[in-house]
Amino acid sequence: MTSDMKTISVLGSAGSIGTQTLDVIRANPSRYVVKALGGNSSVDKMAEQAKEFSPEVIAVSNEENAKRLEEMVPAGVEILAGKDALCQVAGLSDITVNAVVGFAGLKITLETLKAGKRLALANKESLIAAAPLVNKVLLENSALLENGDGAELIPIDSEHCAIHQCLRSAATTDLQESKETKKSNTGKTQEETTNENMPEKNMQNMLEKNMTGEIVRHIILTASGGPFRTKTTEELKRVTLAEALNHPTWDMGEKITVDSSTLMNKGLEVIEANALFSIPYEQIKVVIHPQSIIHSMVEFSDGATVAQLSMPDMRLCIGYALEFPDRLKTPFGEIDWAQTTHLDFELPDYEKFPALALAFSAGKRGETAPCVLNASNEVANAAFLQEKIAWADIPKIVEKTLEVHGEVKADELDAIIEEDLKARETAEKLLNKI
Ligand code: MG
Repeated sequence: MTSDMKTISVLGSAGSIGTQTLDVIRANPSRYVVKALGGNSSVDKMAEQAKEFSPEVIAVSNEENAKRLEEMVPAGVEILAGKDALCQVAGLSDITVNAVVGFAGLKITLETLKAGKRLALANKESLIAAAPLVNKVLLENSALLENGDGAELIPIDSEHCAIHQCLRSAATTDLQESKETKKSNTGKTQEETTNENMPEKNMQNMLEKNMTGEIVRHIILTASGGPFRTKTTEELKRVTLAEALNHPTWDMGEKITVDSSTLMNKGLEVIEANALFSIPYEQIKVVIHPQSIIHSMVEFSDGATVAQLSMPDMRLCIGYALEFPDRLKTPFGEIDWAQTTHLDFELPDYEKFPALALAFSAGKRGETAPCVLNASNEVANAAFLQEKIAWADIPKIVEKTLEVHGEVKADELDAIIEEDLKARETAEKLLNKI
């Protein structure tokens, strides 16, 4: 391993983002080394990954699965078992990719940031459920350490990856240059370091200005519209699970594919954008763009709108999060201009897709309202995947749960976990009534 190589922990390694992260690593063997893998149930897949990538450790949250895996991996690979096993390997590497599904990813997010490492975040639920706490922990641990580390959060979600890139276009110094400054600064005191023109600080300055609307006028999140974009309200009452899982442009995990069909995914991403970029909800717009080639846009104060385009390929976003502030040398998602002949846009229908409006309103309420939105959506989404409820019931369960919960403050982990649990209990009761 050479000194400029980065070690990576891939948590949720058997899932869609996890396997695509390993694709990026496989394509860049001189840049990255897999130090840890993590998962819950996909033992065969993790055993296969262990043989190919030889990690030092694999964390498995299910103890029985951990025992099975132990017999399948090469000698010398340590297996950590138990519900906190993934948290134990978070922050172990230069970069932790949090690709766990749902609220379960929150502790991994927090542990990685506390370790002063880079978090490449695909688990949007952890940020949405606990934005005030996550941002507090990020800020507390973002100062550079002696070894050049410091907590960083780079989103893997394609829309937020796009916004991150668009915002950089308004940076006042070159981020590539600043990286060299960062390296040469690590011998200095924290105060000396934070006073200099660091990329993080530079981005932070820009984000502070965003809050006053000085530079950024709007963030425009694009949405494919999902498989049901053209259906009528009547037709939406009868859509099936198989139809919901048939996404027109993206190949993703089941949970997020269902969230895309209700536009809840876009709603969660609105809250995610507010949490990541400190942009008020009034300045976030959603635009339907069925081709999924423009991944999001930023409209600046001078009237310019900057967009990021590529074919829908999450490996581009993963590579960006691993390599920032540099860029990967292997391309993913390059546009074929012979196939791309037009880009269409339309505004979303908030009445046909009430989940989007629910997310905006929960986001504006703040504190644990987004946590409750997320928790009740996870319950309703899982029930729809098990064909216990109809597609149109999903937002109804979320709306009713939000009427009962969401007033608790979101700055303590225990309080957030408790509110999440209560919301799940309420949502479960509502399921049984349907
Ligand atoms: Mg997305």
